[in-house]
Amino acid sequence: MDNRHLEPGVYPRDEGLQGVGVGPHPQPNVDLLKAKIRHIPDFPKPGILFYDITTLLRDREGFKQVVEGLAGPYINKLVDLVVGIESRGFILGGAVADRLGAGFSPVRKQGKLPSRTIRETYDLEYGIDCLEIHDDAVQRGERVLIVDDVIATGGTAKATAALVRTLGGEVVGMAFLIELLALNGRAKLEGEDVYTVLQY
Ligand code: AMP
Repeated sequence: MDNRHLEPGVYPRDEGLQGVGVGPHPQPNVDLLKAKIRHIPDFPKPGILFYDITTLLRDREGFKQVVEGLAGPYINKLVDLVVGIESRGFILGGAVADRLGAGFSPVRKQGKLPSRTIRETYDLEYGIDCLEIHDDAVQRGERVLIVDDVIATGGTAKATAALVRTLGGEVVGMAFLIELLALNGRAKLEGEDVYTVLQY
């Protein structure tokens, strides 16, 4: 059945899925999603196995399941704002925000945002970097979901949560497409509601 023209959150009963918000959210097909992710050894530098999701996102069914998988657990959590982390967090976060009926704000690398920003430095799997957010990107008391493609060491997400809280936002969750278990990013995010769709 062609589902492309269904309303967001409305799923055909004959697929065994229930409408988002009225029951359990659709579970993504983990094997299907994993099969569509391309692994690039030694990118961007030797020793890093890069999880390239462009091959998954270009696939209509894959992209749909990714968005449903990330948004599903937060459908009833009254999320006001999704904060997506540069750059793949923009693609995923924008779609998730639309699905949740929330707004979207970007967190970017240093020097990219045009207006007044606040900043936070953080450790990355491959280096040290700095993240910024516009100082009016989150309103005091807003319920915020942080979205990114990969959680590796957790440093990027931790810095993002700090930026959101500095502006007075309430972090209700962090949703990632991919969790790299060996790097134990969750240890750095103790106390946070961390949700991941795929684990490696
Ligand atoms: P971390 O701060 O260590 O959790 O790193 C997370 C950020 O780095 C995310 O924005 C990811 O896009 C990126 N990243 C880290 N490791 C990888 C990897 N192996 N493949 C793809 N992206 C990665």
